[in-house]
Amino acid sequence: MLYEINEKALKLESEGKKVIKLNIGDPDLETPPEIVEAAYDAMKRGKTKYSSAYGEKSLREKLASIHKVYGDNVVITPGSKWGIFSVMYLLLKNGGNVVIPTPYWTAYALTAKTLGAETRLVKTELDSNWKIDLETLENSIDRDTRMIILNNPNNPTSGVIEEKVFDGIVQIANEKGITILSDEVYADISFVKTKRILEYGGDHILVTGFSKTFTMTGWRLGYVVASTEMVEKIAKLNQITISNVPVFIQEAALKALELGSAIKEKIRQEYRERAKMACSLLSKSKLEFSEPSAPFYMFPRKRGLDSEKFALSLLDNGVAVAPGTAFGDYREHFRISLTAPRDDLNTALNKICEAVE
Ligand code: PMP
Repeated sequence: MLYEINEKALKLESEGKKVIKLNIGDPDLETPPEIVEAAYDAMKRGKTKYSSAYGEKSLREKLASIHKVYGDNVVITPGSKWGIFSVMYLLLKNGGNVVIPTPYWTAYALTAKTLGAETRLVKTELDSNWKIDLETLENSIDRDTRMIILNNPNNPTSGVIEEKVFDGIVQIANEKGITILSDEVYADISFVKTKRILEYGGDHILVTGFSKTFTMTGWRLGYVVASTEMVEKIAKLNQITISNVPVFIQEAALKALELGSAIKEKIRQEYRERAKMACSLLSKSKLEFSEPSAPFYMFPRKRGLDSEKFALSLLDNGVAVAPGTAFGDYREHFRISLTAPRDDLNTALNKICEAVE
């Protein structure tokens, strides 16, 4: 359905109609020009050859120092998506199941399906502020469970996992010897402090990237922090598939890290404003929602709504959103990406409010 909405939005645009696209998580802000320049400069210096499947030493070392690990614990991937795919492939290729709290980012379940692995969903609800119930999580684990995937902050709710709940999940995983894959692509630009998987130690895995933190979605740059054994396996997978992430892109990443907090703060501030505006507008409608703790998404609900039909009809009115069914069993919800300039966002949110009356 996500695909259908996107295709329809593109078709309407090709017919000359204006569509405000709040259906995907691709930020409207541009990649900072200094980062673009750094890539161009690296290309001019001939950084255009094959290179290490682990990633460039300089970038791995820099990321290692940020995360307080060794360079050997870091492997560079084309987007965090490839990092997630690699880890899931390596942990699930011999069978087993994966436990995932919902609502979830669609790709986890689709990847598990591609690998022939069973997905065990742990449903969370708006009414309990998306809290993961530890007992339900524990009961969904069995001998065949190979991994738990956490997404903190979460796409689509923009909620963060409470520290006590996170402690509980890690404790359960440790007791049962299960690896946690923590997808923290939104953590660096979160509005609130979020607990990180690496703070717990152990054999758990962090996946994150540059797409959201530095508005670099199209550059395809992410990384995995894991045990040296896991890093080696991912590098081997890189070797036989993508060879390596282009070196000039990795050099641009070093520049992004150098500029670091200034860029993140700018993004955070812009999205705080957008989220404030969205909450204020939507609160006047019949929608129920949790306030976002991180940029990009809101996941409102209207009782009795069929979000697939709703998304299609809203599109005819020039606004694209993602139906809740794309994120698990959430037909009454839909996802709004706050990834449009404020004027457009204001227009789109008003149309959404009218449509749910
Ligand atoms: N994880 C989550 C939760 C996401 O929402 C996304 C992108 N929408 C990704 C991973 C992938 O990001 P990328 O591959 O661009 O790093």
